[in-house]
Amino acid sequence: MNKEYDFIITGQGLAGSLLAWFLLQAGKRVLVIDPQLENTCSRIAAGMIHPITGRRIVKSWNADVFIPFAKATYKDIEDKLAEKFFEDYPVFEIYHDIGHRNDWAGRSASEGMSEYVKDECDATSAPKGSKAPFGGRWVVNGGWLDTRRFLDTIQRYLQGKNSFHKGILNYEEVKFGKEFITWGEYKASKIIDCSGVNAISHPLFNHLPFKPCKGELLQIESDGLPKDCILHGNVKVIPLGGYQYICGATYDFNTIDEIPTQEGKEKLRAALEKIIAPAYRITGHFASIRPSTLDRRPLLKQHKDQPLLYIFNGLGSKGVMMGPWMASLLSAHLVYGEELDVGC
Ligand SMILES: Cc1cc2nc3c(=O)[nH]c(=O)nc-3n(C[C@H](O)[C@H](O)[C@H](O)COP(=O)(O)OP(=O)(O)OC[C@H]3O[C@@H](n4cnc5c(N)ncnc54)[C@H](O)[C@@H]3O)c2cc1C
Repeated sequence: MNKEYDFIITGQGLAGSLLAWFLLQAGKRVLVIDPQLENTCSRIAAGMIHPITGRRIVKSWNADVFIPFAKATYKDIEDKLAEKFFEDYPVFEIYHDIGHRNDWAGRSASEGMSEYVKDECDATSAPKGSKAPFGGRWVVNGGWLDTRRFLDTIQRYLQGKNSFHKGILNYEEVKFGKEFITWGEYKASKIIDCSGVNAISHPLFNHLPFKPCKGELLQIESDGLPKDCILHGNVKVIPLGGYQYICGATYDFNTIDEIPTQEGKEKLRAALEKIIAPAYRITGHFASIRPSTLDRRPLLKQHKDQPLLYIFNGLGSKGVMMGPWMASLLSAHLVYGEELDVGC
């Protein structure tokens, strides 16, 4: 006798967790399959939502839509599951030099920036522990997701609903019928692949425009750094609680492995020492692969040859910010037949 579900989701990273949440809220029967590995992309992510992006100092793509929706989603999950994993930390952007300060001054005056970009500070009023000889500027309305705590919370919720199976789904074992798919003892109407970077090498998905990007992070301990804001220069320094901070990240499009390197560590230390003054101790060093795409847009697609198979992927370096909106779009499509249109 098969155990029946409406949806099977492969992978419980940010994508699979958020999709499962929306489908369960819509009253659907969901099974999430995940091997519970330690250093997955979502588990080691720095977890930041930053409304302003890149060297050009522009608003992140669709920030005005994605950010309020993401924050409302995380807060709703916190309330419903009586957990805390999201913080509204402001970001202190540290100017590299006078040119950088002038760029920020110019860009801050652009339309729509005033909601996010706030006061400038000189070196004397910068947050404690920061090194900001040219000053900096406050950016608000982003935040920080403690991704490990979020994933653990969702996993417990799924387990409580008999919606979690620890394991790896191998597509060679999946039987695709006209109306159902079956995998071992499980049967479902549809299957959604949320397997992150694993999808890249998969024969069913390797036609998609992935451009994976390795990232490394350091965890540090210091008693001289701020506990209620994020410092951001070429790296960000995010308070984790106690005297622990996460510091990252690197971007490497040429190496696709999850091995922390000495080179990555040195790059992070050099960037870190430009923006923080106090002594610190390295307490962790992590690496993983961002499931990025060529055009930096997420992938929400029905498989061209297998209509019961979908993919939700391509969250790249902005899974915390884009994940909730994209998951809700896909859920609305799967549950109510709404159109899937995310510009990819
Ligand atoms: C160093 C670094 C820093 C980052 N910092 C940020 C940040 O500050 N802000 C931000 O928004 N984003 C950040 N990101 C990006 C963010 O982590 C990703 O956007 C997001 O985690 C992608 O989530 P995902 O669910 O698609 O993939 P994943 O997290 O990789 O999840 C996929 C899951 O599927 C499972 N899986 C794979 N294959 C199978 C299978 N066959 N069967 C069952 N399960 C399977 C995996 O074990 C995993 O649990 C960072 C990433 C890195 C690497």
